[in-house]
Amino acid sequence: MAKKIKRFRKVCRCCGDPFETDRPNIKYCSECAQTQTEENGKNRTEANKGIYSDLRKLKRYNDQHGTNLSYGKYKLALFLGKVKV
Ligand SMILES: [Zn+2]
Repeated sequence: MAKKIKRFRKVCRCCGDPFETDRPNIKYCSECAQTQTEENGKNRTEANKGIYSDLRKLKRYNDQHGTNLSYGKYKLALFLGKVKV
């Protein structure tokens, strides 16, 4: 006897197409899931890049000014226009 796999009927959150899946926590059809993953991956990489370049600037700023600003304080100073990079 073939093993019965429970299928869940879902409506894609992205394109609104109905689809079936065997995983209950799936929100996107296979096509949109692929797009979502690609976009998430891209965003994550770019967010990381931003943080790493900020951290480099922060280190340089601390070196140049003999300060020891934390990342949060540095971001706040940047936001308030107290730090020029
Ligand atoms: Zn879709």
